[in-house]
Amino acid sequence: MATETQKEERGFESEVQQLLDLVINSLYSNKEIFLRELVSNSSDAIDKLRFLSLSDAGLLEGAAELEITIDFNEKKKTVTIKDNGIGMTKEEVISNLGTIAKSGTKEFFGALSGDQTKDSQLIGQFGVGFYAAFIVADRVVVTTRKAGITGDEGVRWESEGKGAYTVETVSAEQRGTEIVLHLKKEAKEFAANHRLRNICKKYSDHISVPIRMPSVGEEEGYEVINEATAMWQKSKSELKDEDYQTFYKLISHDFMDPLKWVHSKVEGKIEYTTLFYIPQIAPFDLWDREAKHGVKLYVQRVFIMDDAEELLPRYLRFVRGVIDTNELPLNVSREILQKDKSLDKIRTASIKKILGLIERLAKGESYEKFWSTFGKVLKEGIIEDTVNRERIAKLLRFSSTIDDNENPAVSLSDYVSRMGEEQTNIYYITTESFSTAKNSPHIEYFRGQGTEVLLLHDQIDEWLVSHLTEFEGKNLKSIVHADLEGKNEEGKADENDETKEIGEHDEFFAKIREALSEEVEDVRSSKRLTTSPACLVSSAEQPSANLERLLQAAGQEVPKTKRILELNMEHPVIALAQENQDSADLKDWSEMLYEQSILAEGGKLEDPSGFIKRMNEMMLKLSGA
Ligand code: ADP
Repeated sequence: MATETQKEERGFESEVQQLLDLVINSLYSNKEIFLRELVSNSSDAIDKLRFLSLSDAGLLEGAAELEITIDFNEKKKTVTIKDNGIGMTKEEVISNLGTIAKSGTKEFFGALSGDQTKDSQLIGQFGVGFYAAFIVADRVVVTTRKAGITGDEGVRWESEGKGAYTVETVSAEQRGTEIVLHLKKEAKEFAANHRLRNICKKYSDHISVPIRMPSVGEEEGYEVINEATAMWQKSKSELKDEDYQTFYKLISHDFMDPLKWVHSKVEGKIEYTTLFYIPQIAPFDLWDREAKHGVKLYVQRVFIMDDAEELLPRYLRFVRGVIDTNELPLNVSREILQKDKSLDKIRTASIKKILGLIERLAKGESYEKFWSTFGKVLKEGIIEDTVNRERIAKLLRFSSTIDDNENPAVSLSDYVSRMGEEQTNIYYITTESFSTAKNSPHIEYFRGQGTEVLLLHDQIDEWLVSHLTEFEGKNLKSIVHADLEGKNEEGKADENDETKEIGEHDEFFAKIREALSEEVEDVRSSKRLTTSPACLVSSAEQPSANLERLLQAAGQEVPKTKRILELNMEHPVIALAQENQDSADLKDWSEMLYEQSILAEGGKLEDPSGFIKRMNEMMLKLSGA
């Protein structure tokens, strides 16, 4: 007995409306992608049903031929996309078509600028999915019924895409989803057989589900218009670049072509096929480590899942593609997957394939683009993937004092190849910004010596260097730490001088140390400074100031550590302070030396107005006012 309910009107979640407006405004010049998005959803729905029916054949309800049908009515100006896939319950319709469940959505909408050209580029990263229907339609009617429930529990959803939609319970004989698009005037051209066929050919030929359309010519009825074979099962020689590009867009919802791909069939003990793509642009949720992965697992052509970390590690979450194997049982569960030996092997081999792909990319010009888009994610691999650490390390790119270029282009191998014979360390500095790194007082000595220093200015770099301590037998060494071997290694002759100097200035240092007893551990003469008067260094066991700041920013309690204040004894300001070391101003001067050292490393002063006050007083004093 049909339990028809009243039509219920509901408002869209505000993000949905925002997305709808954006879709309509920014994709009007690329209208035809609506079909690709809806066909792709239908294909996913069929994939889901096929998988679930393996353990519950009843879900097929005797209609085991899974297919998508595209129909149209030229007079009424409608296009209909129908599938006999998994379908949706009322709750699912409300949450799938009325809200945006993707994590990171808030951040995405926060990033919108209101500038249409800019925002329409972002939309490609978001993936518009179902809402693409509103590019061409001013009324969309969805009728759906979930597989396995009774025919009177169908749902009809209807909307004009303007803030609200209605839902009602209807009877629906057939399982699956039907979407009727009432075309806008300016999109009526789509209600035509050849037009729809051409679009399908262009975007959906490689979908593994048959797509049926009304026959052309004499015969009545429908005919299958696509190849309906799994694209990745074809041999490479049968496939053109365009085939790979089209398939990529189909599975990724991306508007751009991929940067590069690798397709391989492995035969032997374990048989499997993989097709991996590297996109050109980052998806909107790249920074959400929990986000769904872009690689789909198929077993014997049946789609199994697409969000399993079992398939690829997180640091490769930007990769899109397919893994297909006959090795796993079809009714594989997540628990089985986690323990499965052959999947483990496929995963290991897949990582190697992808790293190989990135290595090939690294040889060409597009690597810069790749690195600026995905470099930070790949860096996570140094921390996550100890097995491939060496290989990933070779792919890293950094800024360096060699050219002071903010775009990271220097590899560790480049650095090593430029190292002098006597140099045993790879030197780096970590800061929050490129200019802080580039202008850091700590670097002065190295610049003077012509020793290259890597300028690390990504947040993750601090963690990176804590895991990557050596490369090709050379140690990676921070230049902000006190035990600067580099200094000795390249300037051994100075060592005695330094001890002598320390003895010479002991009294002066003691006075400053006393003035700064709350702030610093020790005061001493510096060899690393040439143009700046002072800087702070950490002892080998201490975290760097940059790391302390990062931990604080992440909400962690960081105990205050006292560091060592190094003074440039050649600097006129220090000379002046030394001459007047008995002056009442020494306390203020010491504070200012300490505070400017903090500012130079990109740190924050505890008492900025105190600093300004001291500075102004000093200016007035010097001018004799
Ligand atoms: P996405 O496909 O990226 O998740 P969409 O906005 O395209 O986003 O779709 C939202 C959800 O609606 C899908 O995840 C799916 O659960 C459901 N859906 C869309 N189209 C269909 C369909 N033809 N059959 C069953 N479910 C569908």
